[in-house]
Amino acid sequence: MKVTVNGFWGGFPAANGATSSYLISSKGFNLLVDCGSGALSKLQTHTDVMDLDAVILSHYHFDHIADIGVLQYAVKVQNIVRETNKILPIYGHKEDMAGFRSLGHEDTEARAYDPEQGLQVGPFIIQFLKTIHPAPCYAMRISDGDATVVYTADTSYREEYISFSEDADLLITDSNFYDGMDGSGPGHMTSTESAHIATSAHVKQLWLSHLPHFGNHDQLKMEAERIFAGKVTLAHEGLSWEA
Ligand SMILES: [Zn+2]
Ligand SMILES: [Zn+2]
Repeated sequence: MKVTVNGFWGGFPAANGATSSYLISSKGFNLLVDCGSGALSKLQTHTDVMDLDAVILSHYHFDHIADIGVLQYAVKVQNIVRETNKILPIYGHKEDMAGFRSLGHEDTEARAYDPEQGLQVGPFIIQFLKTIHPAPCYAMRISDGDATVVYTADTSYREEYISFSEDADLLITDSNFYDGMDGSGPGHMTSTESAHIATSAHVKQLWLSHLPHFGNHDQLKMEAERIFAGKVTLAHEGLSWEA
């Protein structure tokens, strides 16, 4: 399994940056997890759009779906240019029907996931955990049978993340706030809440993501390292991990 960061900013992209988006690949299958602002541009620095096999979305906030529209155009244009008829499935939950319906287009198909049932997509088994966030949102535990990555999506802290993340090879957390701040209003976690989950769940390594537009990100890393003894990395575009 390989995980590559396309975008990591919370809320909006910094100059030349992108918001939440990760490419998860295994056994020749390319799954795009969230598709924020700038993500399509960043994705193409390492992957052809037509090599995407599926997209899955945690929720319908713009910093996670802003590039879905242009992704739909990209597939349409490339189908014409290359004389292909690819239909790209885009998975989302149905707790926001307007958001869900927007996933379907001429060359993309909206597909619902049932968070209670889990989902199999290509080689991936995906389990879901409802997050604590102003909009309905789901964290994902994604396994290809060999390795497991957990993505908290957008959330304030909840205890259930510890069992949900147990023994994961890689944990990617919403670390939109610094130690001592209260992220529960906008529905985000701090560096130390992320590290607490990583430690208690015995994950192998931690990526701090959904990063804020204030302060010094190195401080987030230092705060997390005080709690979690494993490897802590600040998400950045192009960062990748392979199991
Ligand atoms: Zn977000
Ligand atoms: Zn959000």
